This record gives sequence, C-alpha cells and structure tokens, in this order.
Amino acid sequence: MICESKTAVGGLGTEGSEVGIPLPAFFIFTMIDTHIHTRISIDATGTMEDYCKKAAELGYKYICFTNHMEMPEAAEGVYDYAMSDGDFEEQYTKFLGVKSRSGLDTGFGIELGYSKETEEMSREFAKQPELDFVLGSVHRIFEGNVGDQAQMRRLMQKYPAEMLYERYYKLVEKSIRSGIFDSIAHMGAITRYAPKLAFEKYGKWVERCVDALAECKVCIELNTRDMPKGIFFPDENVLKMCFEKGVNVTIGSDSHSPEGLGTGIKEGFALLNKIGYTRVCIFKQRKQIFLNIP
Ligand SMILES: [Zn+2]
Ligand SMILES: [Zn+2]
Repeated sequence: MICESKTAVGGLGTEGSEVGIPLPAFFIFTMIDTHIHTRISIDATGTMEDYCKKAAELGYKYICFTNHMEMPEAAEGVYDYAMSDGDFEEQYTKFLGVKSRSGLDTGFGIELGYSKETEEMSREFAKQPELDFVLGSVHRIFEGNVGDQAQMRRLMQKYPAEMLYERYYKLVEKSIRSGIFDSIAHMGAITRYAPKLAFEKYGKWVERCVDALAECKVCIELNTRDMPKGIFFPDENVLKMCFEKGVNVTIGSDSHSPEGLGTGIKEGFALLNKIGYTRVCIFKQRKQIFLNIP
C-alpha cells in the first residue's frame, strides 16, 4: 500500500529526526497538551493569552494550539467553524506576541480536516513554515459531521451503521497515507454518536488504519477530551494494537476552553504506561521530539 512522502518542513520522519529528551517524572505527567482550541474555532472560547495564563497557573511546560482548519470545499457545506487563510496569518502574528510575552514554551499547530476532495489543498496548506504540528482529523463522512449528534442521527436514518463505520475508517486510512499529517486526532470518534457495533464488525478497517500508521510512520493521538466519561480515543484495545505495531503517540485534551486545558492528560499517561509506552511525541517545526514517560 502507498504512503505518500511527508511534506513536512525539516524532514519529518527521516532518520535522525528523533531526539530523546529524558524528563523528570513531575514534568511529563502533568504538563503537556498538544490539542487545544481557542475562540478562533467557532465551537471554542478563550484567547491564546487566556490559555497561556491557565497553563502557567497549572504549571504546564508545553502546549500546542491546534485550531480547526477546513478546506473551502468543506466550508461550503457542513462546516461553519473553519479558519480562513486571513485568520491564519493573523493568528500566527498574535501567537508570536503571546509566546514571547508569556515566556511559555508553546507550539503553533493546526487541526486540519481531511477529505479526499480537498487533499491537494490540504497538502499545500500543511507546507507552511509557520506550522509546528499538523494534526489530521476525519470529521465528515457522507454529508454529516461525526461530532454532531443531530447530523449523525440523520446519517443513521440513511445509512446502515456498518457502512458509516467503514466509510469513516477508510477515510482515516486515506488521511494517514496522504503524508500530510504528523498525527491523527481522535481516531474512533464515530463511536461517540453512531450505534455501537461489535468490534468484529468493523475491526478489519481499524486494523488497516493501524497498519497504515506503522507503515507511514504517522503518530496516533491519544485524545483525552472524554476521559471524564471514561472514554479515550482511540480506546485501550486499539492503543494496544498501535503499541504492538510500534506506532508513536501524541497526547491532547482537545479542550475548547482554557478551563478544559489538560483534561484527562494525567489519566492518559497512566493508560499509555499501562500499555507499555515509555515515550510520547511533540512536534516543533514539524520535527518529531520524544519525551520519556517515567
Ligand atoms: Zn476534531
Ligand atoms: Zn480538536
């Protein structure tokens, strides 16, 4: 199967791009979050400044902003929370100011929605040198958003559950193989609102995604947003599959307000530890950096 070559600045995924940084236990267990949204994402609140203040209060040492970006084709339809190119430039300028004022180690990333139709546009967009981290997401399948309960309800009236799962995971596999992304966000999020299916009914599509992550050396994100409900994306079984195939991990709370910063991160690290992971990744200027989990 194909893995498109990475478009990252700085040769992401090339040999020698790994840097091991052993850190004391107190650092790693509480203090990084690489998936957060400010109010520029229409479904979120809080400015970058607010997040940096909160991070400083909580003693975080590294956070990475990942506001939504959906390419124009998607913006014409379901999505209404896309950043425009103009917003992007403005946000980056603001980011540099906030970063220097706060003194906090912060990254400028993006959560880039994937669709087959806009793949080339996304690939070009992801080449922008301002970006530290490009997180890939499948939000839309058919004509609905997997994160929107009402839209999923409409899809469920039209398509059998197996078809929705298959479409979702096939798109996730394509996003992995596209070579656009450093890490894949909240894999499995379709289970939030779609009818529950036995794993045997869709497991082969998940396995194909995990194989693609391993082959293409793309990270999986451990998304901890729903940890208060006891849910992680992906779930423990899929994370185990990732671990066994040597897939590296990023971690993020996907918080949509400063109050949510770091939700579930500590528990996420505990889960990773339990599975056997000894390190997680962050990206700076698209270069992969490993942080040890004690
Ligand atoms: Zn998302
Ligand atoms: Zn997000």
